[in-house]
Parts: sequence; C-alpha cells; structure tokens
Amino acid sequence: MSTAPRLIIDLNALVQNWQKLKKLSGNAECSAVIKANAYGLGVDPVVKALTKAGCKTFFVAISETGERVRAIAPSARIFILNGLFADTLDTISDNKLIPVLGNTDQVALWAKHSKGNSCALHVDTGMNRLGMDVEEVITLSKNASLLSSLNAKVLMSHLACADDVDHEHNRLQHEKFQKCVSSFNTLENSFSNSAATLSHPDFHYNLTRPGIAIYGGEAINNTPNPMQPVVTALSRILQIRNAKSGEKVGYGAEATLTRPTKIATISGGYADGFHRSLSGAGVPLRNTLLKGGSVWIDGHFAPILGPVSMDLITVDVTDVPEQVLEKAEWAELFGKNIPVDDAARDCGTIGYELLTSLGARYVREYWGN
Ligand SMILES: *Cc1c(COP(=O)(O)O)cnc(C)c1O
Repeated sequence: MSTAPRLIIDLNALVQNWQKLKKLSGNAECSAVIKANAYGLGVDPVVKALTKAGCKTFFVAISETGERVRAIAPSARIFILNGLFADTLDTISDNKLIPVLGNTDQVALWAKHSKGNSCALHVDTGMNRLGMDVEEVITLSKNASLLSSLNAKVLMSHLACADDVDHEHNRLQHEKFQKCVSSFNTLENSFSNSAATLSHPDFHYNLTRPGIAIYGGEAINNTPNPMQPVVTALSRILQIRNAKSGEKVGYGAEATLTRPTKIATISGGYADGFHRSLSGAGVPLRNTLLKGGSVWIDGHFAPILGPVSMDLITVDVTDVPEQVLEKAEWAELFGKNIPVDDAARDCGTIGYELLTSLGARYVREYWGN
C-alpha cells in the first residue's frame, strides 16, 4: 500500500451507466465522449470496457487521444471534436480518425486531403465556440461537388443549457439545428449530450453523445442523479492529534479552533485536484460563500479544517467515535457516500472539473469488467 490517495474506478458501474444511456437513446446509436482522459478516469480501461459492452463510436477532443483510442479499438469510429488543422492531417488519416469540421477553412482543407475518408460537420447553434454558422452549413448543403469530396457522415451541434431542461435556449438551438438537418437528408444527426439523452428524446436524432453521465456525474440540475457512482477517491489517514481550543491549524494560521479538537491529517491535496477552495471555514477564501468540504470516515462526516494544502488535508474528527477512528485507515473524499457533485459544489465548481483535475498521483484501481 502507498500513502498516495487512491482512486477506485468501478468499470461495472461505468458500463451499466452507458447501457442505461443506450437504452434511453432508443433507436439512436449511443456513443461515448471520452475527452480529457475519459473525464479523468483513464482512456484505456474506459475504452476497453465500453467496447466490450458494444460501444462503437467515441468522441475525443484531440487527435493524439484519437490515435491512442485507435490502438485499443481497431474498428471504432473516432471523432475529433477540436477540428482539423494541416498539422493534424497525418495523424487523422493514418488512424482513420473522423474530424469534426468547425469552419469553412477546415471544410476546404478536408475537401483536398480527405483521401476518401469521412468527416463530420459541426454547426454552432448558440454557443459561439466551435462550428459553422447555420447559413454556412445550409450553403454547403447545396454544394453537391464539395459535399462529395468531403464524404460527410454526421451533422452535429452542441447544447449550451441542456442541464437546465426547460431553458429557452434549448428550444432556440433546436430550431436552428432542425433547419440544418432538413437541408441535408443523408447525414446522421447528433445533438444530445448526457443531459439531453436523459431528458429530451426529441433531441436524440441518430447518434447521442453522452459524457459525464457515463462517469456517474450529475448531468441535470436540481433532480436526483439517476446514474451510479463510478469513481471513489480515498485518502490515507496519516496521523491523528489532539489540539486545544484557541490553537491554529495549517498554513497562514488562519483557522482558530473553537473547542478542544481531534484533528486527522490525511493524504492528498490540491495537487490531486482536491481544490484549495474546499478549505474549511475560517480560511479567508472560504469566509463568505461556501461552508467548505467534508470527508467520510466509516459512516461519519468529518469537516475539512483549515486550508487544503498541496499534499495534505486536515479534518475535524472530534465527533467520530474513538472505536471507529482506531480502525479507520482511509477517508473518502468523494464516491459512494459523498457524491462527486456534492464535493464539487463545496469547491465552488462542477463535477466535470473535479473529475478532470484528478491528476496523476493517485493509485488507480480498476474494479470489475
Ligand atoms: C463534452 C461534450 C459532450 C458531452 O457532454 P456531457 O455534458 O459530458 O454529456 C458532447 N458533445 C460535445 C461536442 C462535447 O464537447
């Protein structure tokens, strides 16, 4: 055993989450978005598990990840969301990756260099990030010769507010997307992220693109999360000490104990993506908005005390019974007992950011599959 924090990744739960999304996708094919190292969980084991479960289409951000996925999934369709550049053409064609074209320059580049391989077209319907304007896509739909040299297979767009099911922006984006859909009739259409896969059957079209929900994260605001937790982060309990009322804890000596306190120092810190904004009450950055995070020790919450530092976190275990502390070796940072999204809210961020900042130091254990 190591004193590094541990990440337990339950591949059975991951696969069951994907199967649930596949079922909800109905007649649409269900892909998996695996950008950012599969949301921090590790591309290789995630792709292997999902391929075994029948997933045939993956979306990554960058072509280097696509190359890696190709080595594991020889017959998968692998889409590159960040688009096409002259210096990524070789990686893309050598590995039969599918670029998602986001502007007319990329369209022109692919028309010249596609070598008969296929691409996807990205239309921006209301985010102003990547993608062509609706008018550009409609113009393209009427250019038969350009289209034939592109070999476009998929038309896609991305939702800005799908986590808020009834948001007006969803309807506006959908109207724009429909305009583009109806100007082609041969493409597979793809419009749904996790939230829309869960909540908007009318947005499913031919290919859904869930990400966060596969990994057990919360896709929709203010509703119970229907997905199983996949990731548990555990931190080793390194030392327990007793301190007097009035004493200070950690860097800056800003947290002052208001009672005799039993303090556990546990492994892990902001270097592990366990953000400094989880620091306990009394640390100046926390004074105002949020209460700070907690960890879970064998059935008991222990609030974080003082600042989260690079490799260490101090927690208040005064109220954890002695017989529990005597046996306890690990504290849960998040997982089955503290949902990742609750830990993220305590940091002032979202589950996506917490998962993708987990870092390299964890000992990663893959369970199941
Ligand atoms: C990240 C991403 C997704 C997946 O979004 P989730 O909210 O994680 O389900 C789908 N499509 C595009 C274009 C993305 O960038």
